[in-house]
Amino acid sequence: MSYCKRINKKLYKRFGGRVTAREYDRCLFLEGELDDWDDIVSAGLMAVNRRRYDGLVNDIVFTGGQIPPMRTPTLMDKTLDGESPDVLIIGGGIVGCAIARECTKYDMQILLVEKEHDLAMQTSSRNDGMIHPGIDLIPGQVKRRYNMRGNHMYDQVCQELDVPFRRSGQYICFHGIKMAMLAFIGQLYYLLVGPRGRFISKKEFHKREPNMNPSVSGALYFPSAGVVSPYGLTIAYAENAVDNGARVMTDTAVLGMNVENNRIISLETNRGTIFPKVVINAAGVFTEEIARMAQDRFFSIHPRKGTNTILDHKAAMRMNTIVSSFGTSSTKKRHTKGGGLVKTIDDNTLVGPDAVETYMKEDYTTVAQNVADVFEKQSLTDPALHIRDAITYFSGIRAASYEEDFIIRKGKWTKNIVHAAGIQSPGTTAAPAIALDVGRMAKEILQEQRPVQKNTKFDPIRKGVVRANELTIEERNILIAQNPNYGEIVCRCEQISRGEIIDALHRSVPCYTLDGVKRRVRPGMGRCQGGFCGPLVMQIIAEELALPLEEIDKSAPGGEVLFGTIKEVDVNDR
Ligand SMILES: Cc1cc2nc3c(=O)[nH]c(=O)nc-3n(C[C@H](O)[C@H](O)[C@H](O)COP(=O)(O)OP(=O)(O)OC[C@H]3O[C@@H](n4cnc5c(N)ncnc54)[C@H](O)[C@@H]3O)c2cc1C
Repeated sequence: MSYCKRINKKLYKRFGGRVTAREYDRCLFLEGELDDWDDIVSAGLMAVNRRRYDGLVNDIVFTGGQIPPMRTPTLMDKTLDGESPDVLIIGGGIVGCAIARECTKYDMQILLVEKEHDLAMQTSSRNDGMIHPGIDLIPGQVKRRYNMRGNHMYDQVCQELDVPFRRSGQYICFHGIKMAMLAFIGQLYYLLVGPRGRFISKKEFHKREPNMNPSVSGALYFPSAGVVSPYGLTIAYAENAVDNGARVMTDTAVLGMNVENNRIISLETNRGTIFPKVVINAAGVFTEEIARMAQDRFFSIHPRKGTNTILDHKAAMRMNTIVSSFGTSSTKKRHTKGGGLVKTIDDNTLVGPDAVETYMKEDYTTVAQNVADVFEKQSLTDPALHIRDAITYFSGIRAASYEEDFIIRKGKWTKNIVHAAGIQSPGTTAAPAIALDVGRMAKEILQEQRPVQKNTKFDPIRKGVVRANELTIEERNILIAQNPNYGEIVCRCEQISRGEIIDALHRSVPCYTLDGVKRRVRPGMGRCQGGFCGPLVMQIIAEELALPLEEIDKSAPGGEVLFGTIKEVDVNDR
């Protein structure tokens, strides 16, 4: 019996004829109607077979709710009409921006379009910023290959781009003597297969992380784990790409494509029609929609949400690295996969994330119960963990494929597209390595039309905004003598000066919003969450960009911030 027949039998047994599978050109398509999103996801996971098929497309119609349309910019103009770049990159997340920089190593004209008002607005600013050692990845997985390569590249990339990066290491803790023995034996697997991990005794662990649960009886330690600011690195990649000749256009959404004879001829955007020679699909959770427009849809994305809590700097002093416990199952909830405690590069602690299937690709709400479940689970690692130390919460959406693997390849049917899809975790870790391969594939496609040389003027070095709070008093005084703006502290929680905020507004990828400045130089990231410094930052943006205060947005047009005293606002309202 063929695999397709067998899977149809299984689907019939589970869904009673409401779902069927068919094969076409080494792809498996699921069709039918279901009213439970979790059932749609499980049908996909039941049917997927990566050895037989290039991909699984889940076309089961969801009848239990309304899938929201993609958020698009309100802006409509003709700025890009008629443009014909060599390479058009769709998506200004870490993957798209890393690819843009990689492409500037060749003599190619690069245009990156991002539908949001700034870069790193979706998953690339909504994650743990952990550079994974690759503990739970299986040999043979595409994501394992890119994770291992990406992890190795981090020291050099971050040095070139002047982005703080720390190889903090990661502990997986074991509780009880039997479990510690298991960990001791488990280290053999990691010594043989990698990533290099070694057993740490109870005594040694508690010496290194004295505030964690005394019940930890041993740990596996992975020294190659690290932490980075994921949005900081995304912006740094884009700035270096622009410095090397690429163009970045935000507020620009790809809305349709004209495909003829298996080639993309043009793309429709809210800013006109673009005629690129090569298209790169780095659209995160929307990579399936881009593949559909390109008539090259051989995979599907099932979005998976994760929520994290950020703790105050004081709570972060309890730990030095990344710590989690093996097999924590204090919650009985389905889909809650684990997470841990991460000391971030900016010395906060992240608690989370969880993992919940969702049909809403841009739903960044946070749910109190999910946060509570994660806290309950992580308190096994640190019993003193307390919600009162939380300063904020956030959610991000993972772009998971049914193969649960990355899809990094040239188009299956359409010739001038490269997909960087299914980039769920560890996408931050893997981005530098993904960029290497996608950049090469873009060059190969372009070479079919014209010779492509190396860009001899490519400069890998970017100088970031000065981080005044990391300087010695002497260095700081010299800086202030040169420019007194560095002596005026605007954000007291994070010790950010006026000078740094002004610098952030005048970079090669400029920003115009409160959140844009926050992502670049951190005012508002501290305990008060911008309550004190927010109005001051707005004032600086207004002055520097010569805009009226009322026109400064929090994160995008339509998100204006109310300002003035309560009395003034009341008077204005009347
Ligand atoms: C909670 C959570 C924690 C995670 N933790 C880690 C971690 O610790 N380490 C790690 O390695 N990975 C982690 N990840 C995974 C990592 O965040 C992602 O793999 C990575 O950010 C994906 O980057 P991207 O550029 O592919 O996607 P995105 O950052 O989502 O970028 C895609 C961009 O495309 C744009 N776009 C979409 N459609 C269009 C269109 N039609 N036109 C124009 N633009 C469009 C979007 O607006 C978006 O900005 C985590 C993920 C989550 C959700």
